[in-house]
Amino acid sequence: MHALAKGRVAGIAAGDAAGATIVPRGAGTGLSGGTIACADAIVVATTRLRSIVSIDRAARVAVVEPGVTNLAVSVAAREHGLFFAPDPASQKISTIGGNAGTNAGGPHALRYGSMVNHVLGIELVLPSGEIARFGGAVADLAGYDCVPLIVGSEGTLGIITKLWLRLLPLPEDVRTFVAIFADIDSGARAASAIIATGVVPAAMEMLDKVTIGALNAAFDVHLPADAGSLLLVEVEGLSEEVDDWATSILRVLKQNGATDVRTAATQAERELLWKARKLGYAALARIKPNNYLHDAVVPRTKVPAVLREVNAIAERYGYIIANMFHIGDGNLHPVLLFDARIQPVDRVMEASAEILKVALNAGGALTGEHGVGLEKNHFMFWVFGPEDLDAQRRARDAFDPDGTMNPGKIFPGGDACADIPTERTKRALAEGMWV
Ligand SMILES: Cc1cc2nc3c(=O)[nH]c(=O)nc-3n(C[C@H](O)[C@H](O)[C@H](O)COP(=O)(O)OP(=O)(O)OC[C@H]3O[C@@H](n4cnc5c(N)ncnc54)[C@H](O)[C@@H]3O)c2cc1C
Repeated sequence: MHALAKGRVAGIAAGDAAGATIVPRGAGTGLSGGTIACADAIVVATTRLRSIVSIDRAARVAVVEPGVTNLAVSVAAREHGLFFAPDPASQKISTIGGNAGTNAGGPHALRYGSMVNHVLGIELVLPSGEIARFGGAVADLAGYDCVPLIVGSEGTLGIITKLWLRLLPLPEDVRTFVAIFADIDSGARAASAIIATGVVPAAMEMLDKVTIGALNAAFDVHLPADAGSLLLVEVEGLSEEVDDWATSILRVLKQNGATDVRTAATQAERELLWKARKLGYAALARIKPNNYLHDAVVPRTKVPAVLREVNAIAERYGYIIANMFHIGDGNLHPVLLFDARIQPVDRVMEASAEILKVALNAGGALTGEHGVGLEKNHFMFWVFGPEDLDAQRRARDAFDPDGTMNPGKIFPGGDACADIPTERTKRALAEGMWV
């Protein structure tokens, strides 16, 4: 491990000794129940640790506290001609600590990868109260690299209190296109055809008809109301290469049935398109009071077939379904829209399990970017055998041998707090701790 023990945080160790468990929390925007606190937990919110400690333009490294929002890092980096690539749609409010906790992605993960590709170092408060540091601005430390293990560990290894982030130079040129298709299939074919040309766009996002309708009703975005699907494609780089890529992309979009293609002519137009994409989820609240947003990833070429099956499941169960997703990397986000007052949540969960199974049968993964949390821990058996899970548990035990950190998350054990092994809970309650 690259750990340098620097000190101790007494409160954490005291909490552990009293039998409490600890749930690290950022902004609480996570979508897999990662911050749900069970009976004996102390929730440690890091939102007030929001200082950008330094930005080193030459080294292209930012040192930040975990409560800084994702957008604040990007805004601060821009002043130095740099940017931070991971850009979850929640970037205005979600924290860098939470982004690291979930290994968050976002539209630009297609070209740049998710958080794990952009975190160089982490300061972590271990459940013992020790403060350890892994990695940092200097690359190539000898020994095991624990940073990628901590990124995506969903608060189960310790509390992140500082991060060293990789920044990238702002691209010289950015071009954003929006293409309209009659249906999802033709849009998805165009997306695969673009990748087949060898161009890797910075982002490639798809919105379906339901989402387009909701956005038009909720916001002043004026998307084509008759579109069966909308493909948002962005390329960035040196002006010369962006020109070449733009020519290829426009050709491929038309060859694959785009009925209309527009290029954002100004920064304001570009921002409006991204605003539409990032507000899609909020707009869906107009249709039904409740929704269940899924997160699964499948091979990109399987997207049309998987979505056909997913839509058929929603229809069979009687739910409206909306899709807005990162088509470039096959990261699907089907949203089941329902009214919990008249449609039982248990049925929604059944439909959701079927959706997940379809994605896994297509060669996909349990989660694309939202994490396992409490939502999918009981599905871990579908993809990992007992030996795999045991190996993962032993890795966790190296940091947290007593299971103090965020218990019940990631590892199978139940799908609600009540199902989590309760020895600690009983002890804490017997001692009169708050619940
Ligand atoms: C409208 C909307 C759009 C979204 N779009 C995207 C998207 O495009 N891409 C994407 O990946 N996600 C997306 N999300 C999901 C969510 O925003 C991300 O998972 C985000 O990374 C969570 O950050 P947070 O600060 O809210 O963390 P929280 O929800 O508070 O915590 C998330 C997890 O990280 C752990 N954690 C938090 N802080 C720390 C810390 N300091 N130390 C250790 N562990 C910690 C928690 O224990 C928990 O397991 C979206 C959510 C919403 C509501």
